Amino acid sequence: MQTDAREIILKGISGSPGICIGKAYLVDKEGVDVIEKYTIPPENIRQETNRFKTAVTKARNELEDIIKDVPEELRHHAAILETHLLLHKDKMFYGKIIDMIKAERINAEWALKETTAQTKSMFNNIPDPYLKSRAADIEHVSERIMRNLVGIKDVNIASIDKRVILVAHDLSPAQTSQIQLEKIMGFITDRGGRASHTSIIARTLELPAVLGLDNATRIIKTDSIIVVDGAKGIVIVNPEDETLIRYEELAKKYALRKADILRTSDRPAESADGQTFSIMGNIELPEEVVAVKDHGGDGIGLYRTEFLYMNRDTFPDEQELFIQYKEVAELMYPQPVTIRTLDINGDKAISTKAATDETNPALGLRAIRFCLQNPGIFKTQLRAILRAAAFGNIRLLLPMISGCEEIIESIQLLNQAASDLESEALPHNRDIKVGIMIEVPSAAVIADQLADLVDFFSIGTNDLVQYTLAIDRGNRHVAYLYNTLHPAVIRMIKFIVDAGKKKQIKTFMCGEMASEIINLPILMGIGIDAFSMAPQSIPSIKNMIRKISVSESRLFLKEVLKQTSAADTMQLITDTYGDTLTNGIYTK
Ligand code: PEP
Ligand code: MG
Repeated sequence: MQTDAREIILKGISGSPGICIGKAYLVDKEGVDVIEKYTIPPENIRQETNRFKTAVTKARNELEDIIKDVPEELRHHAAILETHLLLHKDKMFYGKIIDMIKAERINAEWALKETTAQTKSMFNNIPDPYLKSRAADIEHVSERIMRNLVGIKDVNIASIDKRVILVAHDLSPAQTSQIQLEKIMGFITDRGGRASHTSIIARTLELPAVLGLDNATRIIKTDSIIVVDGAKGIVIVNPEDETLIRYEELAKKYALRKADILRTSDRPAESADGQTFSIMGNIELPEEVVAVKDHGGDGIGLYRTEFLYMNRDTFPDEQELFIQYKEVAELMYPQPVTIRTLDINGDKAISTKAATDETNPALGLRAIRFCLQNPGIFKTQLRAILRAAAFGNIRLLLPMISGCEEIIESIQLLNQAASDLESEALPHNRDIKVGIMIEVPSAAVIADQLADLVDFFSIGTNDLVQYTLAIDRGNRHVAYLYNTLHPAVIRMIKFIVDAGKKKQIKTFMCGEMASEIINLPILMGIGIDAFSMAPQSIPSIKNMIRKISVSESRLFLKEVLKQTSAADTMQLITDTYGDTLTNGIYTK
């Protein structure tokens, strides 16, 4: 494609791997950034408040329509839109704006802008990260009303009728939920990071995405030709012929390799020297079992059960839980399903009254601590799990264990639940494996003692890294320090696995670290027995395991353990495994 414009390379953050080449489609170039303030004559105040109310109604209707049309694969991400809808109905927020229009005799846009800023700063000042993140929701809600007030049409992504690459300042959850796979090839945004909602959606939909580009919307015009390299976090605007040819070639290779990898994903992950690893999927809802099966998962290594407890006013009852767990167990049978008991609070708040008011929730009453303080709620879940275990191959996993007592107490409750079911003559299976998440440094240090009490370990690196390196996993200011290759993290993982091996118990890994091919040589060298990850990552991990030899990775680990920084370790990985790793799906 010969264009007059010069080729420009933009560097952002990798949101989701893959390559796409196509025409750009600008989503929100005409933002509503510049808001004028003006005075309203007293006789027009009523008209002004009505104008505001109409904008709110329109915004609400728009959102209701979007929620109705959310595609199936994104259904469980739609909860966030329901939250937005509630905010649209928040009387305090609107009352404040209407009062301001009347009292200060100012235009509705200005009152909305001011009130939004005040409310956002209120949320930002709350230490709880969950509540803090609500500030972004206020902004999305306010923006939709503002667009209606100033008469800018929100681009309806669902109505795009040609194949394009979306270019946006930021994509709101409402916008990402409108993406149709036949039309959208990929997307890029000025804002956002790897852990943002937008990036998670891109990976769920397996669309290439680059985020955090800062000024893509200023540089790129609708219909410009762009190349998106999701794995490298690069966008090329107005590519020269040579670049285009190179990327078309790469995109073809990528698609072939992806198809190839997917084709072989139902085969076992056997290393180059013959050791088989079980590669399982992480799920949050029963619907995701399909994705695990489609991507060749060897079971469910982590079923995060807290999502059934969130966004509601009451706790689910035993029957509701039993039905869900039984469904998953039956669908996966004979493969294992590892049900992790409730891990609420921390970064996953609940809306029932049991939610606590804590200044430091990550170190607070979360997960097993919450459950042991609320034995009624815990026992209900344990009973549902034991009953579902009669229908499949279920394992139990306890989160956030920090000492032996928590395991002993939990097993006592499990035994009680089993004898209650026995005396009620309800079918169940008490003979299930019980494991613990190792995600708190104290648990890692006494892993040998904990190993005497359980059947397996599962390392949760998301939290283990957070607590080991003292980095809030949701805090973007310290995100640059969050590194799974930190020597302390690698040593700690080795320590846990060694302790498990001495006591003949297996160690799995279910944190994000398990899903990045770059970490595989180290983890295989350490001796992790099984991995669990987002279903979409399973095929490429299985593929990479087949290329690595365990005996070589053990030798490699010796070198890794001599490194004194994550950067040096990274260099060593690329120097040693460059060829193998770069043949993987995530890189060129
Ligand atoms: C972890 O901490 O690594 C983990 C898998 O659990 P979650 O991300 O649910 O805290
Ligand atoms: Mg965790």
